[in-house]
Amino acid sequence: MTTTAAAYAVSSPEGPFAKTTIERRDLGPHDVLIDIKYAGICHSDIHTARDEWHGTTYPCVPGHEIAGIVAAVGSAVTKHRVGDRVGVGCMVDSCGECGPCVAGEEQYCTRDAVMTYNTAVPEEVQPGGHTFGGYSTQVVVTEHFVVSIPEGIGLDVAAPLLCAGVTLFSPLRHWNAGPGKKVAIIGMGGLGHVGVKIAAAMGAEVTVLSHSLSKQDDGRRFGAHHYYATSDKETFRTLRGEFDLILNTVSADLPMDRYMKLLNLDGTLVILGLPDNPLQVKPFTLAGFRRSLAGSMIGGIPQTQEMLNFCAEHGIGAEIEVISADRIDEAYDRVVASDVRYRFVIDAATM
Ligand code: NAP
Ligand code: ZN
Repeated sequence: MTTTAAAYAVSSPEGPFAKTTIERRDLGPHDVLIDIKYAGICHSDIHTARDEWHGTTYPCVPGHEIAGIVAAVGSAVTKHRVGDRVGVGCMVDSCGECGPCVAGEEQYCTRDAVMTYNTAVPEEVQPGGHTFGGYSTQVVVTEHFVVSIPEGIGLDVAAPLLCAGVTLFSPLRHWNAGPGKKVAIIGMGGLGHVGVKIAAAMGAEVTVLSHSLSKQDDGRRFGAHHYYATSDKETFRTLRGEFDLILNTVSADLPMDRYMKLLNLDGTLVILGLPDNPLQVKPFTLAGFRRSLAGSMIGGIPQTQEMLNFCAEHGIGAEIEVISADRIDEAYDRVVASDVRYRFVIDAATM
């Protein structure tokens, strides 16, 4: 017997979102049924809903920044109990056996992790044949992919941490951000603003590279030590060779060669933003200073929990604007126009 949940779906790249009902599978022994309270709007939701990555199956219910309360658990569940505050991010399953899965890096599962939405799955996993995400009132997820939201972070400001938070935390840890390291973050949107807070809490010297100075006061409030406008050509001369680590969170194409030149000897620029076009970097730019160009995809389940615990300890939550579900289309347009301060979060009670 399945559970019927309310959801908001799009039926074509042009939208609009409309209210619908979906079925969630019956609880298996290792499943957790979650009453969703909040779902963040990530720019990846927009890329998917609008088919900018060319592979969207409609109807599409996005949402991979899910915070809620456990409503029921399967007979063999040990990790969570009814009433627990929990979160679900970008993945809901993986093979569990390959090298990356065993290492707790399920996002790099060699047999491909099952993403929270828009992944083809058998009907018994998700009635409808592909996963439906968090723009919904309930979701069923296998316990391993459900993390605990510590007391002390509100569910609303915790929701965006499930994707934006871990997507920044993971490379900051991997490339050893901390005292004595100069870290730059390109783009201060949903991902970027959480990255500023986390990098500053790790003790790094943090610089924001934003298209303008309009969000400078906020950036400094989030912990940035320096703030530059990339629309000012002087920025690229002043900061040449400055950084150990640069995280690019921008959802649009950037002239990456210019940004690579801001790295110092052995510095690394990590691609997090995912527009669909190839990057252009001159071989001389890489070779000249032994620079690296890298990429990083969200974070594994153990690291997602570590990130939530870190954020609770340092009083970090996302800066959010809570909206009702009937305003998703308007929120998408505002995210694309960089008019978001700094994450829209859907209140599931409005569904
Ligand atoms: P967002 O809230 O829209 O933030 C992106 C920021 O990029 C904007 O706030 C803006 O910052 C800057 N920007 C946007 N358009 C620009 C343009 N044309 N030129 C220069 N700067 C521009 O998006 P998000 O949710 O943070 O997601 C960002 C990207 O990361 C998306 O492509 C998303 O798919 C991707 N993503 C990747 C992962 C991963 O695992 N790698 C995970 C989640 C999301 P300023 O106003 O400060 O310039
Ligand atoms: Zn995301």
